[in-house]
Amino acid sequence: MFKPDQCNFCGECIERCQWMDVEKEDAISHMKMMAKGEKTAVLENCITCYACNEICPQDANPFDLFSELQHRYFTFASEDIIASTESRYVFSGELKDVPQHDRVMATCVFGKTHPQLIQGDMYNLPQVGGKPYFCWVLFSHMGAAGVQKNHAEDLVKRLAQTGAKEVVCFHDDCYAMLKKLAPDYGITVPFKPVHLAEYLVEYLTGHKSRIKPLNIKIAYQRPCASRHTPEKEHAIDELFDLIGVKRVDRAYDRGNALCCANVKLLLGQGDPAPDQMKNVDDAVNHGADAMVCLCPMCMQALSASAAIHQLPVVFLGDIARMAIGEIDPSSRQLRIV
Ligand code: SF4
Ligand code: SF4
Repeated sequence: MFKPDQCNFCGECIERCQWMDVEKEDAISHMKMMAKGEKTAVLENCITCYACNEICPQDANPFDLFSELQHRYFTFASEDIIASTESRYVFSGELKDVPQHDRVMATCVFGKTHPQLIQGDMYNLPQVGGKPYFCWVLFSHMGAAGVQKNHAEDLVKRLAQTGAKEVVCFHDDCYAMLKKLAPDYGITVPFKPVHLAEYLVEYLTGHKSRIKPLNIKIAYQRPCASRHTPEKEHAIDELFDLIGVKRVDRAYDRGNALCCANVKLLLGQGDPAPDQMKNVDDAVNHGADAMVCLCPMCMQALSASAAIHQLPVVFLGDIARMAIGEIDPSSRQLRIV
């Protein structure tokens, strides 16, 4: 939620945006207008990468203001399109066969769309997924953050029906929803959200004898949702350290991560390919043997540009599975020497 009392109108959030070129004075003026609920060009030039929430030195959450206004003015999608998309994801049936366990994994929609990424010993824990457990964060990327807010409580209640003390989030968006967004909306989350990287670190620490260090260099593609929960970044680094993977210190990582840019297609903001190539070039120029993604959507977005450089794109969980011998690196075109 935007915190107007914390905003000092420094303009940094807009001035440092990687997706628009705005001088400081204009940034300040745009910010003052939007704080009063007025429309500015920022709304339509924004690609909804959430970076400005992390950039803001005052923790005022400027993106939350922009997304609220994008929804109010239907900047990207009409009311009808938003409503019809929402209706595709709404679950209105009875929940059946809800696992009862101290710890469950929430797989969002990926059990159906990317089942190949949720295989092997590490995922051998009770899972919930599909429509009832959809996290709705996609709607921020449509300029309809209000939809995400409206369904947050139902998601939390359904997950709570498992009786779990801990919910491991397969997707970074779900973790952002449960750890940051839902509490921001005033919703009590009665279990501990656990990030996939935290879970993988715990699993691998308990199975150290299975680890064969990979000794490779990778470029990490930090997803948009990580902007909501930067405090868990240490778990990503711990995971790489455990499996002998060096995260190259490239231009587009950590606080300067570059959105995978596929959202430009959804928002009608042109061809994302040049941005994706810039990202992949950065990885290659810093000596990465592979690009490792936490978000399956980033994998899809970057794969064509990466293929031009013959740079393998690998899911974070799969790189961990390679280290314990569950996946042959060569099956992902990754050469281990
Ligand atoms: S939201 Fe933050 S970065 Fe943006 S103008 Fe306000 S204080 Fe500055
Ligand atoms: S969300 Fe991203 S694209 Fe939008 S204004 Fe903030 S930094 Fe720029």
